[in-house]
Amino acid sequence: MELDPDALTCSHCGEPITDSGYLPATDASGTYQPIPEAAVCGACGFNELGMTGCAPEPTDVFDSDTADVLLYVTVSDEGVERVSVKE
Ligand SMILES: [Zn+2]
Repeated sequence: MELDPDALTCSHCGEPITDSGYLPATDASGTYQPIPEAAVCGACGFNELGMTGCAPEPTDVFDSDTADVLLYVTVSDEGVERVSVKE
């Protein structure tokens, strides 16, 4: 994904996302357009937004008129990698 890993900040706790996180995206005919300003870090997604200890549902993270899918991503120096997609 063409995303600067340094640009990802959790919209819930405000901390930079440095390992993994959840990234809402719009689905434009199979091409995902990430919405970095709505991203949440893995800890917040798992513990604050999802049911305790569960990955969040897309609607836990964003309004349905904001995005279409929730990408689970890993963040490293190499960049942002998409692990899975939830609709
Ligand atoms: Zn967070």
